[in-house]
Amino acid sequence: MLYLVEHFYSIQGEGRYTGVPSLFFRFGGCNMKCEGFGCEEKASDGTVVLGCDTVYAVNKEHFSQNWIPIKNAQELLNILELYELPHAVDIVLTGGEPLIYANDEIFVKFLNVLHENGHQITFETNGSLDIDFEKYPIYKKCIFALSVKLSNSNEPFSKRVRGNVIYNIASNAKEAFFKFSIDAESIDLGLEEEIESIIIHSAKTKVYCMPLGGSKEEVERNTEPLIEFCKSKGYNFSDRLHIRIWDQNKGV
Ligand code: SF4
Repeated sequence: MLYLVEHFYSIQGEGRYTGVPSLFFRFGGCNMKCEGFGCEEKASDGTVVLGCDTVYAVNKEHFSQNWIPIKNAQELLNILELYELPHAVDIVLTGGEPLIYANDEIFVKFLNVLHENGHQITFETNGSLDIDFEKYPIYKKCIFALSVKLSNSNEPFSKRVRGNVIYNIASNAKEAFFKFSIDAESIDLGLEEEIESIIIHSAKTKVYCMPLGGSKEEVERNTEPLIEFCKSKGYNFSDRLHIRIWDQNKGV
């Protein structure tokens, strides 16, 4: 079953298309937990759940009341009618990990209709799940923000860094770029080598580094050390505008 957790119209807050008006679809479910990010969110039953800054779109057990089961592509397409959108507005598919639905019939139909209607489609993905570009050519028309997880996620290396998947996506997609969330402490702990061991799988793909954090305070604390890191390596710094402006990652 395909689950949608939220949708909202905003500006893209991070990465290459920062500032571009975009309609976001946040899908529920992920193949990782990333408890190392240390973000905590209280569920309606009072349980404090540890994970990433979108733990509510990862942990179905405690946040299922926000997960909407989608029964056909039209239900997703109808969401576009709820907003006053400019023609062919950019669509961002995020999560959770939206590519857990890469082979889902409803999901693929949704993508095809969006593309036929002229929308630019961007996936925000952890880059660990492979895509069959030959079976589903629609993915060749999409952009992929490859937010490959670092060791600060506490996920095992073999799960978070899959070189063949990175190469496959970067080689077949319309466009791809790397996007890393980095905290000040990790910069001093061999982060440089870690990033290089990931980007080597697609050496020409551009790299964007963003300050880690689920709150404005955390993002601000990590910003200046990260800018210095980007300057030294020639990577692009990316802000996290939605957190800096609204101090949250939900529904903005
Ligand atoms: S891969 Fe992304 S969505 Fe999934 S748990 Fe990690 S940070 Fe959260």
